[in-house]
Amino acid sequence: MASRRDFLQQGARLCALGLGAQVLTPAAAAAAPQSTDLQPPPDLFDAQLLDLDFWVKPRTLSVVRPQSGERARVLYWKDGEVIDSAYQELCHILRDVNGRATAPIDPKLFEILWGTQAFIARYGMTQPLEILSGYRTEASNKRLVEEGVPAARKSLHMVGKAADIRIASLNEEVLGGLIRSFRQGGVGYYYRSGPKGGWIHADTGLNRTWKG
Ligand SMILES: [Zn+2]
Repeated sequence: MASRRDFLQQGARLCALGLGAQVLTPAAAAAAPQSTDLQPPPDLFDAQLLDLDFWVKPRTLSVVRPQSGERARVLYWKDGEVIDSAYQELCHILRDVNGRATAPIDPKLFEILWGTQAFIARYGMTQPLEILSGYRTEASNKRLVEEGVPAARKSLHMVGKAADIRIASLNEEVLGGLIRSFRQGGVGYYYRSGPKGGWIHADTGLNRTWKG
């Protein structure tokens, strides 16, 4: 059970991060300064800081794939186990849409995506996670590199361990800070101007951070 004190501490940290005031509407998000001195929230995988309920309750991931127009709400984890059919469905959604290929996605990546979504849902933000890129074939990745799109030659996208994501009305700084706080891999910040803004690359490789 969560103690009220724990929850309040969590809320205070989230406010410190800017979630409380800056990012609830697209207009506010656009107007929000891209501050670089925000403090990431605590390690979300630290059970001391989150109520146990958070990690044992069923996990549903709500995702949208703008490239293909697909949308899904998938209950993929329950009673301590990944539900295989749901896992397959999520792997399909994170497939290489251009290369028309599907590959197994690291379950730890889904954990990061779900943790992010579940955490902000506590603050009334229930919009789906936009998956801009998931698995990539070698050929697709190579094409991106050649086209000058930010993509590493040995990208973790090619082994199902990375996703480029965006959440409407959450700026890159906050989304990246939240994912970083999981300490489960790499986080790349891709700032872009325009109505949609940039995106965050999240992977399950080494803990590291960069701006692209
Ligand atoms: Zn990426």
